[in-house]
Amino acid sequence: MAAHPQSEAAARLDTLLAEFLPGRDLGDRIGSVVAGEVLTGGGGPLDLVNPADGRLIASYRDAGEAVVGAAMEAARDAQRIWWGMTAAARGRALWAVGQLVRRHAAALAEIETLSAGKPIRDTRGEVAKVAEMFEYYAGWCDKLHGEVIPVPTSHLNYTRHEPFGTVVQITPWNAPLFTAGWQIAPALCAGNAVVLKPSELTPLTSLVLGMLCDRAEGLPRGLVSVLAGAGPTTGAPAIGHPDTRLVVFVGSAQVGAEIAAAAARNVVPSVLELGGKSANIVFADADLGRAILGAQAAIFGGAGQSCVAGSRLLVQRAVHAEVVERLARAAALIPIGAPTDPETQIGPVNNRRQLDTIARMVAAAQDSGARLAAGGGCPEALRDTGGLYYAPTIVDGVAPDASIAREEVFGPVLTVLPFETEEEAVALANATPYGLAGAVWTSDVGRAHRVAGAVRAGTFWVNSYKTINVASPFGGFGRSGFGRSSGREALMAYTQTKSVWVETAAQPAVAFGYVG
Ligand code: NAD
Repeated sequence: MAAHPQSEAAARLDTLLAEFLPGRDLGDRIGSVVAGEVLTGGGGPLDLVNPADGRLIASYRDAGEAVVGAAMEAARDAQRIWWGMTAAARGRALWAVGQLVRRHAAALAEIETLSAGKPIRDTRGEVAKVAEMFEYYAGWCDKLHGEVIPVPTSHLNYTRHEPFGTVVQITPWNAPLFTAGWQIAPALCAGNAVVLKPSELTPLTSLVLGMLCDRAEGLPRGLVSVLAGAGPTTGAPAIGHPDTRLVVFVGSAQVGAEIAAAAARNVVPSVLELGGKSANIVFADADLGRAILGAQAAIFGGAGQSCVAGSRLLVQRAVHAEVVERLARAAALIPIGAPTDPETQIGPVNNRRQLDTIARMVAAAQDSGARLAAGGGCPEALRDTGGLYYAPTIVDGVAPDASIAREEVFGPVLTVLPFETEEEAVALANATPYGLAGAVWTSDVGRAHRVAGAVRAGTFWVNSYKTINVASPFGGFGRSGFGRSSGREALMAYTQTKSVWVETAAQPAVAFGYVG
């Protein structure tokens, strides 16, 4: 389908993608990557819009069931080859993917920035992390082994960690390449094939990663397929396909619950990585300068479109006014603008629907009496760009049960709530159904550990925020999901354990029946 002729971003994307995806023009290049080929979808048209100017980049066709079927078939065949290879050979192949990501790092970062609207300083960092993910799991391939269990019989009993087979992965739009690498690398390390469906709003870097997997020496063709399509029309048939053995979903809690239910109908397990409403707790005894920097990184990084965003700032009452005032001054200084500018720290919101949600939630908070200490709406200087910008915003004076204090905004909006005591801070932090992340800022080491233990969250930082690494497990408590990605724990999520019993007795005790 046709690329938009006037858009500079579209022209640049066409040039960048030509290296990886064959096609006559940009729209034609955007199809599902299956066994090293780009398959044009059989479904209806989908639009890619540039968040930095609101203009159409290209339209492409939704993959649909026939393409899903082709990807599943390729995955089944490739997985048999993959699991038949030595663990060391699988490790070398994963390492090769990491090296291809490094070689094409500049192009990958630029494609992500131009199509997803993420600041180039962020996408460069994220691409480097994707290479690390494949390198980390390359090292695990020949270290993933079972154990010998000292059973009280004459048997040798040992365990094997075996792959599921074909894993379907569904990812959101906020960190497309990062999330794809985060899930593909451990899945392959554990011996699986992957059929990944990225968000229909941001498929490009995932498609390129799929192509790089096909190019990597030693990786069987078709082991990784990437579907360009929408959730109900392409994601759902992949989840329901009879070859699907595990579903891994990263996205909203609402869609995640539907997907886990759909998988369960076929007795297929799922891993869910969902949203959050994470508490960032600042005590009066903290180094306030560092806490104020940390609070900005926590909520304004990625324009707040981060699952671990520290969207609730809980501040001890003695320093509440000072922290809000200093944060408001800082928020007005953060460079916001074109994502291609290396100085930009906050780019546009990814899509119009999300921008409308943010505006609606802030307006509702104001209607219920909250005070805007900073931001609210598009910055004056960016109004004519057509971009989906929203200024870093601080909402103060909010009741703890207001929807902005409980529901995920997924934008650059910080809600501030004061507290008096440690017990009150922990109670406020836990007063949400989510449990993805949280942090505490304090100089009292005992308090730091007490609070880290008491807050219900899968990741917790002390005097820090937002650091995650492929070597460390990541996942949610409560409504933020179940199962773990990254680290050694991801390998447990991506394998099923088999127990093997070998009789070693010269004269086994016959327990039942006759030799005949
Ligand atoms: P979303 O739930 O709307 O969509 C996520 C993915 O699901 C997309 O690929 C979409 O096409 C697909 N999908 C939608 N309906 C489907 C269906 N019926 N069947 C199959 N697939 C379907 O989420 P989003 O708006 O893309 O992303 C934002 C959300 O993701 C936020 O809630 C955020 O917190 C969450 N998130 C969580 C993590 C994490 O690791 N915990 C990371 C990033 C984002």
